[in-house]
Amino acid sequence: MTKQSPADLAPRILASDRRALARAITLVESGRAEHRAQAVELLDTLAGEGRQALRIGLSGTPGVGKSTFIEAFGMMLTAKGLKVAVLAVDPSSARSGGSILGDKTRMERLSRDPNAFIRPSPSQAHLGGVARRTREAVSLCEAAGFDVVLIETVGVGQSETLVAEMVDLFVLLMAPAGGDELQGVKRGIMEMADLILVNKADGDLKPAAMRTVSDYAGALRLLRKRPQDPEGFPKALPVSAMEANGLEKAWDEMTALAEWRRANGHFDQRRAEQARHWFEAEVREGLLARLRQDPEIRAKMRELGDAVASGESAASAAAAEMLEQLGG
Ligand code: GDP
Repeated sequence: MTKQSPADLAPRILASDRRALARAITLVESGRAEHRAQAVELLDTLAGEGRQALRIGLSGTPGVGKSTFIEAFGMMLTAKGLKVAVLAVDPSSARSGGSILGDKTRMERLSRDPNAFIRPSPSQAHLGGVARRTREAVSLCEAAGFDVVLIETVGVGQSETLVAEMVDLFVLLMAPAGGDELQGVKRGIMEMADLILVNKADGDLKPAAMRTVSDYAGALRLLRKRPQDPEGFPKALPVSAMEANGLEKAWDEMTALAEWRRANGHFDQRRAEQARHWFEAEVREGLLARLRQDPEIRAKMRELGDAVASGESAASAAAAEMLEQLGG
């Protein structure tokens, strides 16, 4: 890895060399300072190429059928001649050391497809690190000429918000609900969704799935219409990942929405806002990291933190004192 210069990797990535792409992703995942420097240089070189994929976030709780869906959906897209990359954001791998999404046996057919590239979630120390790695991996996949980048996440914690902040479209995969009750979907997540796909609309589950679709459609109509959406969005649709049903329709809706947003300027605007957001997040992280490296500042932080913890100082007063010491 140390001998791998970004100057060597860039042209190979641009030529869609998957091994180079995999190595580059390993590079952006590395915590070592020299790798970081190389990754930054590589990403900057590739950014100038301006290649774009359609970035789609896909979220759903374990068992809802994400891997089955991605496999079927991915195969459908590659059959259309599209190149598909799949990345995973899995906060469980950070917390427990075990990954829900990292299982190598998932999406076996898609992983053998020459027009697909699948990369499981790395075990990273914190969600922020996963965010940066994923964002950078998306850029690398775009530079490698992928048409669609799917970012998969489990519906836990803040990972959905994080993924929603780096994609063009956000899709929620849901299971058929029992009876007519909506599942415990948080309103915030509904608001992020461009498309709710109710999976397992097949066999005995089909009636329940259809009921669930109309429940979600009703709930979505109650949300305020967003300026970045044409009439009728966000939508709820039935799919069967297992029988590969409804996938064409789902893809048509995704492309229609993306095209509408492109034509109306919302697509580029969202990307610009996201880029600015990530730039600022990076500066913030960098500043904090720099502060943590200074032993004097660390000591002061600990001291003030102790005072706040023991109730001796108020949090805001202590923060003000800290900032003053930093010359703020
Ligand atoms: P994930 O944990 O979200 O990735 O879910 P999986 O793709 O591993 O699927 C969980 C279970 O649901 C598996 O037993 C699948 O066979 C099943 N499943 C997935 N999609 C469908 C579907 O469209 N219909 C039915 N009936 N079962 C499905």
